Amino acid sequence: MKIIKHIIYTIWQLPQDIVGGVIWLICRMRHRSSHQYAERILTEWGLLSGLSLGHYIFVHTASDENLTRHEYGHTLQSLRLGWLYLFIIGIPSVLWASCFNGYRKRKKISYYSFYTERWADKLGGVVRVK
Ligand SMILES: [Zn+2]
Repeated sequence: MKIIKHIIYTIWQLPQDIVGGVIWLICRMRHRSSHQYAERILTEWGLLSGLSLGHYIFVHTASDENLTRHEYGHTLQSLRLGWLYLFIIGIPSVLWASCFNGYRKRKKISYYSFYTERWADKLGGVVRVK
């Protein structure tokens, strides 16, 4: 039954699993360490930001447990949203991270206040001190 569940979850999250799998392969070719984390594949990479795509989580080697839990929360969003994940979470999250840094500073808004990030924190059990 476990293999059937895994196949269904993989099909349900196919777009993000394909992209995550390609990134994971590139990381493995560059000898990045990778291990299991709550039925996900957690890979440590050189980038400071985290990324979650289907079954794959990518975090910096020096990242803390909060970031890992946050990224795990994104994987739970992926499980809930399936093929819609990239449109509802992935693309808005990347835009929020890359294009709104000045806006966040001007308005003194936390990166984690955006709906994609706040929800990932909640699902991952992350508690942030304000
Ligand atoms: Zn996030």
